[in-house]
Amino acid sequence: MPKELWTIGRLLQWTEQYFLDKGASRLDGEVLLSHILGKDRIYLYTHYDEPLNKQELDAYRPLVLERAKGYSVAAIIGKKEFMGLPFIVSKDVLIPRPDTETLVEDILTVFDKDSAPYILDVCTGPGTILYSLLHYLPQAMGLGLDISKEALAVAVKNREQLELTERAKLCYSDLLSALSGDTVYENTFDLIVSNPPYIPSEEILTLEPEVQHEPVIALDGGVDGLDFYRRLLAEAPKYLKTGGYLAVEIGYDQAEAVTDIAKSVGVYSEVMAQKDLGGIVRILRWQKTGDDNGHRN
Ligand code: GLN
Repeated sequence: MPKELWTIGRLLQWTEQYFLDKGASRLDGEVLLSHILGKDRIYLYTHYDEPLNKQELDAYRPLVLERAKGYSVAAIIGKKEFMGLPFIVSKDVLIPRPDTETLVEDILTVFDKDSAPYILDVCTGPGTILYSLLHYLPQAMGLGLDISKEALAVAVKNREQLELTERAKLCYSDLLSALSGDTVYENTFDLIVSNPPYIPSEEILTLEPEVQHEPVIALDGGVDGLDFYRRLLAEAPKYLKTGGYLAVEIGYDQAEAVTDIAKSVGVYSEVMAQKDLGGIVRILRWQKTGDDNGHRN
C-alpha cells in the first residue's frame, strides 16, 4: 500500500492524533467520517482498508477543523437524536441535551397517552421539548415560542420532518410577550414548559468549548442566571389553566432559588422535583392552584 494512500483506517488514526490536544476524540472523527460517507459507524470498522477519494477527503477536512475549533459534532453534522427522535440542529440553536430528556419524561408521567393537552413551550429552540411531547402524546397540540429567528427557522424544518405541522404552531416572541394582549391565550394551556437560558453571564466563559460555541442567547440567564425564571414564573399563571402544569429545567444549583421565586408568586402548588442522570435536581414542576386574575376554568 503506498504510504500516501488515505484509507478509512489511516484517516481515523490521523484524526485521533490530531484531536488529542484539542478536546476531541476518535469517536468524533468516526461520526464525522460516517456523515461524509453516508454510512453508519460499523461500516468504518468493516472497511478499514478502503481508500477514500479526493472528494471525500476534501469534504472531511473542514469538518475536522470545525471540531478542533470547538464546535460539537452535532452542530457540525446538523443532527442530534433526542427522545429517540431525529432532530435537525445547527450552530444557531442549543443542542438538545440528555438532561432535557428528564424534563420530557417527567411531563409524560402526568399526561395520559390519550389525553389532549394544549402545550406551550417557551424558548423552544429547534423544537426539542415541544415536538418530543407532541410525538409521545399523539392527541396533544402545542405552541412554541422563541426570540431567535434562526432557531425558529430550524424549528420549522423539524416540525415538517417530524410530521407535526398540523399540531404545532411557532411564534417569534421574547419569552411570553407575543401572547400578551391576546385574550384567546388566557387560562388556556394545560402545560407551560421551558428550558430557558440559565447560565450566569460570567460563568459562560468557564464552560466546555462545545457549549461556548452555542448561541449565547440560548445560555445567558443574566447576572445570577435566574432572569428568565423570574419573568416566566410571574407571567405564566395568566396563560395556564387552573390545575395546569408549569415545568422547567434549571441549572445544577438553582433548585432552591427557583423554588423561592415560585413561592413568592403565590399561585403554585408545592414543587415537584426530578433529578437528572447525575443525581442533580434539574427539573421543577408545579401546578397552578389558584387564579391570580379572577377567571376560573
Ligand atoms: N444545560 C445547558 C448547559 O449546562 C444550558 C442550557 C440552558 O441554559 N438552558 O450547558
